[in-house]
Amino acid sequence: MLDIRVEKTKTPKPLPGKDNPLKFGTIFTDHMFLMDYEEGKGWHDPRIVPYQPLQLEPSAMVFHYGQEMFEGLKAYKTEDGRTLLFRPDKNIERANRTNRRLCIPEIPEEDFLQALKAIVKIDEAWIPTKEGTSLYIRPFVIATDPFLGVRPSHKYLFIIILSPVGAYYPEGLNPVKIWIEDEYVRAVKGGIGEAKTGGNYVASLKSQVKAHDEGYSQVLWLDGVHRKYIEEVGAMNIFFKINGTIKTPKLNGSILPGVTRDTTIRLCKEWGIPTEECLISIDDIYESYQNNTLEEVFGTGTAAVISPVGQLRWGDHIMKVQGGGIGPISQRLYDTITGIQLGKIKDDHNWTVEV
Ligand SMILES: *Cc1c(COP(=O)(O)O)cnc(C)c1O
Repeated sequence: MLDIRVEKTKTPKPLPGKDNPLKFGTIFTDHMFLMDYEEGKGWHDPRIVPYQPLQLEPSAMVFHYGQEMFEGLKAYKTEDGRTLLFRPDKNIERANRTNRRLCIPEIPEEDFLQALKAIVKIDEAWIPTKEGTSLYIRPFVIATDPFLGVRPSHKYLFIIILSPVGAYYPEGLNPVKIWIEDEYVRAVKGGIGEAKTGGNYVASLKSQVKAHDEGYSQVLWLDGVHRKYIEEVGAMNIFFKINGTIKTPKLNGSILPGVTRDTTIRLCKEWGIPTEECLISIDDIYESYQNNTLEEVFGTGTAAVISPVGQLRWGDHIMKVQGGGIGPISQRLYDTITGIQLGKIKDDHNWTVEV
């Protein structure tokens, strides 16, 4: 058990008003959780303090060598006033997988969960209740050793901040247009693609800007070796329904193992839909499009939960899916997952954890 010291803010901020659209990632709550690590001492001094700027040495290693892990999950308010987290154990497990890959010391799972619950409890009043809204939770670790030179840091800071967020798609599920990237790559097997870390995102910016300029909202990555096999989208995993079968790229070392991906696979299998994790080439997708067997495409991720894909652009080819609209599986998954998260649908899997 952590002995968490709590220093409450003396100047609470006004809560966002009912009509605030809560644009994703722009508003932060009154408090944050911090815990230090030092070699020889381990993780120590867990504390909740007012949300404020950090003081770091300009030589802090994270600024120069990118040693950083982050996670993303949400807290939801149910109609009867309970606060629920969705599968936090999966995020904690993944955080420590990322930590191991990046030579960051692991955080004991029970301490991590205790910290999540404690910070969410303190700022519980910030959880919005309007349809589709939630409290986004961002745990992360940065290397703080003041040192220039490449080696694992000897000091770290574990931080959790919270942000009330609106519905990802204010008008309900909204199909996105996706650009298939065949010039740049995001990650390769043996690299850090399966770790949740900033480095993967900086590698993606160039093509994201290009895709935006062309009117596409996200990039679909192909594998870094053959530029042929589908990997994932920006911050989402990707699913295709082809001729009645749901397919998603199997985890191969360069794809982020999404919690929503895992939830989606389990639900689809339980619903009796043939579901496969397999190698999917872009040529297969184009062929199924030409044969009219590409029935649905959707992305999965914590932020938007399910993102139906209405259009894919691959070089000169434009593939329209579901007439650019929302497919029935996408809708059913969205309704079921958000229903469980909000406590409206019975949680047979024990996926939710009460704060
Ligand atoms: C976080 C993330 C996802 C989605 O994972 P979830 O656990 O479902 O939110 C997918 N791809 C990348 C690159 C990510 O960082």
